[in-house]
Amino acid sequence: MTKNDLINILSATGDHLNNILNNAQKIKIDNVGNQVFLRGLIEWSNYCSKDCLYCGIHSSNSKIIRYQVSDEEVLNAAQYAFEHHFGSIVVQGGELSSPQHTKIVSQLLRKIKSEFPELGITLSLGEQNKETFLEWREAGAHRYLLRIESSNPDLYYKIHPQNKQHSYEHRIESLYLLKECDYQLGSGVMIGLPFQTIEDLANDLLFFKELDIDMCGMGPYIEHEDTILYQYRHLLLPKNKRFELGLKMVAGLRLLMPDINIAATTAMQSLHPQGRGLAIKYGANVAMPNLTPKKYRNSYILYEDKPGITEDSWESHHQFEEEIAAVNCVIGYDRWGDSKHYQAKKV
Ligand code: SAH
Repeated sequence: MTKNDLINILSATGDHLNNILNNAQKIKIDNVGNQVFLRGLIEWSNYCSKDCLYCGIHSSNSKIIRYQVSDEEVLNAAQYAFEHHFGSIVVQGGELSSPQHTKIVSQLLRKIKSEFPELGITLSLGEQNKETFLEWREAGAHRYLLRIESSNPDLYYKIHPQNKQHSYEHRIESLYLLKECDYQLGSGVMIGLPFQTIEDLANDLLFFKELDIDMCGMGPYIEHEDTILYQYRHLLLPKNKRFELGLKMVAGLRLLMPDINIAATTAMQSLHPQGRGLAIKYGANVAMPNLTPKKYRNSYILYEDKPGITEDSWESHHQFEEEIAAVNCVIGYDRWGDSKHYQAKKV
């Protein structure tokens, strides 16, 4: 597929769009089947050293209460995942980097793995050095999600502070380090950012192909009042159009990379009541029910109207069961559900 083909997909409307979505649905079933794999999401900590201009938990936001989920609470969430036959969990949090932080995470991973050796673990803890990535890999994590946020460096610097701590090059380097450390690599972008063009998004998809990712988590950008980017909200597409663009990105990526894992993200659900279900129907095959203890959910608000703030694990889990059944898909219980793309590279 060329850049023009992708621009064509992202600009489609009416019958043309329906044909594309139906084609993506068929390619998905042909390549990864109708199983959806569950990853129990633990929003582990909102401490963050970064000051990203879009994100509600950016370091200079003094309005939020900072927290880190205790090891015991993480183990309880992992137990929920294990008992309900989820194959895997995701530990996500703000970005901190220090030898002490590396150790805290390694110890946590070892505890999870010793109690629940069957659970696959995905990490999403930002940019780290090679030693840290290796240490966490050895401690039991085997997948890592690090969104590039935007593959266009000019746009990247419009949505991040322009300094060394928010270096585009360093983020790219981290993505390549993760591959060297033999993680299944996930990346993603935000869709519908202010200043973003359809060509940027087509390039994002080509970037994923070039990087040869195994998994993708991407979703619409949604404004947050306590961020710098909020002042540009008048530039945004209306929410229904932003959602539609998100769906086109999922479908376009499924057509471009038929055997990778693609997540149906929470941000899709924020903009449409059946958002995640539609993402699953037209391309996604991974769902991430939220297992974060309820008392912390109010403090991990990355964008406005984030769904699931008042839910507990059971409610998040069962909502997904309904959403998945509604689009004639089935849950792949008790499976890691590794990316077929990654498996194919290993043989
Ligand atoms: N610290 C980790 C995880 C960050 S939070 C890291 O650096 O990778 C997970 C994702 O939430 C981010 O990668 C970003 O793409 C998304 N996110 C943050 N703010 C958002 C917003 N306002 N709208 C939509 N998605 C947002």
